[in-house]
Amino acid sequence: MPEIRKDPVTGRLVILSAERAQRPQPFALDRNPVDMGPCPFCAGNETMTPPEVFAYRADQKHSDRPGWTVRVVPNKYPAVVNDGNSSKYKDGIYEWMNGLGVHEVIIESPDHVENMAMLSEKQFEQVLLAYRDRMLYLSSDKRWRYILLYKNQGTEAGATLPHVHSQLIALPLAPKEVADEMTGARGYFDSTGDCVYCELIRREIHDGRRIVAGNERFVVLCPYASRFCYEVWVLPRKHLSCFDTTPKDDLAELSRTLRQILIRLNRQLADPPFNYMIHSNPLGEAENGFYHWHMEIVPKLTQVAGFELGSGSYINPVVPEDAARLLREVAL
Ligand SMILES: [Zn+2]
Ligand SMILES: [Zn+2]
Ligand SMILES: [Zn+2]
Repeated sequence: MPEIRKDPVTGRLVILSAERAQRPQPFALDRNPVDMGPCPFCAGNETMTPPEVFAYRADQKHSDRPGWTVRVVPNKYPAVVNDGNSSKYKDGIYEWMNGLGVHEVIIESPDHVENMAMLSEKQFEQVLLAYRDRMLYLSSDKRWRYILLYKNQGTEAGATLPHVHSQLIALPLAPKEVADEMTGARGYFDSTGDCVYCELIRREIHDGRRIVAGNERFVVLCPYASRFCYEVWVLPRKHLSCFDTTPKDDLAELSRTLRQILIRLNRQLADPPFNYMIHSNPLGEAENGFYHWHMEIVPKLTQVAGFELGSGSYINPVVPEDAARLLREVAL
């Protein structure tokens, strides 16, 4: 069973998961392509994955066979394990808990596609609907405090298989990034009565320099203090704390918005590896006036190196005003 250990000084949490080392090419040190054999995520190879937990398919009776459009399976090499209840331990300064959680893979196409931007609009929409359906389903389990949805595309971004997929991890606690955002957003709300993200959207639209794209429902921008080159955020214009309560029409618009920004990144940066993640309210927290869900997209163009590790700060060689302008100017 994996273990979640707490750093005795900073309180930072680390998941120790020996199971993850069993993955094909777990450490990505060898850049030479190796023959991975048949793709376990392609339709027809369903027996190569653990049995599916969810799928969009015409005939629900025939699970683990072709005929699906989006398929969700447990991660074969999970970082956390869904077994029992959360137990906390303490020995002097050391604290840890069992690595309880859910780790699933969302396979985004039955066909072998390696770049998410190549999916059709319809298929893209189904992927986002599957995110919402899985979040709604898993949030009924009171053991989970957070569900993190994320994507790694490309080896440099951490993907071990090229077939388009994303992942979700349900955890008994909220990750530090989200906890920090909640603290900052709550502080701003307490002193102003306003949502800091709503204020940021108003300001950015008024200013315009960091806006990449936008429509009635979503705004796409390079954040003021971008950590990484061409870092892009997607935010709903209407204040909403929880991604999983996003209406279907808005998800359809989000899928078009997201697909378009991935195409812009691909054209400007020659199909970069990238990560994206959805930051939403922790489970069990009511919809509130201060937290505003959003997506963060981070192309993998530079390495996190000594300065970043040593300081917790970032050096970004591309100012977000330039990144946004270049992305805006991409011909679609
Ligand atoms: Zn495949
Ligand atoms: Zn807001
Ligand atoms: Zn965030």
